[in-house]
Amino acid sequence: MSNDKSFYEILPDGRMAFYIDATLVKDFNICEQRFFYKHVRNQRPKRIGGKEIKPFSMAIGGWWSDCMESFYNGLGSNIALSTEQIQRIAIQAWADNAIDESAAMQPDQFDKFGDLAGGVLMLQQYYNSQYAIDRASWKVVGTEAGFGYNKEVLVGETNKVVCYWVGKPDLIVIEGDRLLPIDHKTVTKIDGRTIGKYKPGPQMPGYCFALETVANSIGIERRVDRCVVNICARERPSDKPRDGKKKPRFIRALPQYTREELSEWRCQMLRVCERLRHCLMTQDWIWRDSACHNIYMRPCEYLQVCSNTPMSRDIILASSFEYQPPWRPYQATRKEKEGDE
Ligand code: SF4
Repeated sequence: MSNDKSFYEILPDGRMAFYIDATLVKDFNICEQRFFYKHVRNQRPKRIGGKEIKPFSMAIGGWWSDCMESFYNGLGSNIALSTEQIQRIAIQAWADNAIDESAAMQPDQFDKFGDLAGGVLMLQQYYNSQYAIDRASWKVVGTEAGFGYNKEVLVGETNKVVCYWVGKPDLIVIEGDRLLPIDHKTVTKIDGRTIGKYKPGPQMPGYCFALETVANSIGIERRVDRCVVNICARERPSDKPRDGKKKPRFIRALPQYTREELSEWRCQMLRVCERLRHCLMTQDWIWRDSACHNIYMRPCEYLQVCSNTPMSRDIILASSFEYQPPWRPYQATRKEKEGDE
């Protein structure tokens, strides 16, 4: 598959092969109609001045993830990062993720996070606490390693579809004799429900299944049945919480999966692919009305399309939306590009 191709292709035997990841599955499950606009027509809201300004939560998530990548790339070197190096990492990631632009759009959220100096302080705290422990117990074997577009991870097949899983875990480490996929996440704040938020869901079992499959294919016989979600709160924890218990800024969730659960996940993904095939062939995309006014606490970006008459929808899409390249969790390798274009 080339970088601009869609998430599916028709095979010579008439079946459809799907290359799906957690984002596509989540979007499809939120609303099929929205999935059609977003991932089949690839129509996204027009960017102001041609520049995409991400929601603040997404921009800070990117900043945190980039900082973590820089930290963990150096985990094996045994060379401690100085305060100046941590500052440089924070400043570079701040610019790369255009945090100031996102902050200007959502100043209330920015206030709750704090400024760049607050971000540096937070990174320093993380470095001195969590990172120091990780240095002693983790051996990094991969950072931002993408998989899937070369059909490495076959989830399963039926007489109608073939399903391949695609993804890019933030980090892969060995801890003891375990192989662990790790994902860095930010949340608004950490509370009693934070750790339980990652199960069920398609992403973490996908990482476990994919990592075990890829490891086995290169002769590493390891069972991968758990992963680590490395969570950071965007809002500074209150010094005087109402319940008297100060909340942490960092926490880790460790979702685990039995063989049966991973097998259940594979069946679910095959069912998603079969339903996707049906939608693509019949153009029967179900509207999920319950999502129209609340997708991640914001109205659906296609609300103005669906809330107008059928006749006017194409006009709205043409005037207020623009084509953007299909979503891909990572860029395909050169080999893929040369082989498939
Ligand atoms: S407005 Fe509602 S029905 Fe339309 S795409 Fe969005 S969620 Fe789906």
